[in-house]
Amino acid sequence: MARILKVDRWNPDAEIMLEAGSILRNGGLVAFPTETVYGLGADGLNPEAVRKIFLAKGRPADNPLILHLADAKNAEDLAEVDARASEVMAAFWPGPLTLVLRARPGVPAEVTAGLPTVALRVPDHPVALALIGAAGRPVAAPSANRSGRPSPTDAEAVAADLGNKSDLLLDAGPVDIGLESTVIDLTGRKALLLRPGGTDIEKLETFLGKPLELPDDDSKKRSPGTRYKHYSPAVPVRVWTAGETLHDSVNPAKSGFMGISPPPAKFARVILFESEESYARGVFAGFRQLEAKGLSIVAEWPEPRGIGLALRDRIRRAAACTTP
Ligand code: AMP
Ligand code: MG
Repeated sequence: MARILKVDRWNPDAEIMLEAGSILRNGGLVAFPTETVYGLGADGLNPEAVRKIFLAKGRPADNPLILHLADAKNAEDLAEVDARASEVMAAFWPGPLTLVLRARPGVPAEVTAGLPTVALRVPDHPVALALIGAAGRPVAAPSANRSGRPSPTDAEAVAADLGNKSDLLLDAGPVDIGLESTVIDLTGRKALLLRPGGTDIEKLETFLGKPLELPDDDSKKRSPGTRYKHYSPAVPVRVWTAGETLHDSVNPAKSGFMGISPPPAKFARVILFESEESYARGVFAGFRQLEAKGLSIVAEWPEPRGIGLALRDRIRRAAACTTP
């Protein structure tokens, strides 16, 4: 099992953070909390260290990584930052928003998967910021799960998925948001939404003064991650919309229910959330809990606003491998 050190979210121990930073500088892997989900970090400028992330996760090599920065001013070393990108950074960083920009030379091809672009984010979590600061360089980090599994929202889920594959796991308790960052592509005139996530799409659109556009097939090829099956537990996941009758194939006695409305039948287990925010925060842990009990999953389809849009995306992906 990886070494697990507990850190105070608001006041991370300086000595632990120094050690974690030095593991990264020496080419090792550190799993750490962000406000979205737990990440598996490596020195983003060290190709060999970055390759270890792909090995540990079993991640396809053509799925690029996000570089995490401690400060927006470091973005200019890695990417071409125009006025629009710089305004978006000032308004939304630190926070759950990833920007895809044109990469400068020097960003390893292992990070960008050979694309001419790079994805950047400043996370809003004191432990993540302290770690990046201690490393003194950008930290490449995808979610700290085996590829294709639900993202980890606490240290226990990281340990269950990655065991001893990271040199250190920093445990600052459960995350705030529970879904990954929103990813937008600002390389062209149009702003493209590559992935809904923790940053409200409506807020972004208000800020940009126009709707985000969806990538066409060609730009989808440019964001390979969107092709992969994601976030899936090992048991069938079925979607249920409040007010509808349950699908015939569901046996409630052998299923668990997750959502905010009263469940439509007597399920073996019920995980009820008080709001869409808490549903988002708990959805991946809920998947893992019900899966561990060997139960099929019925997940309520949330309203398509605010965090509900990102939640829909993750539930849709989890349910995509369940045949009717
Ligand atoms: P993950 O680290 O698993 O949360 O995934 C990061 C997401 O960002 C993936 O869906 C990638 O496709 C996307 N991404 C990362 N870098 C780039 C890039 N250079 N261009 C387009 N998308 C990217
Ligand atoms: Mg991931």
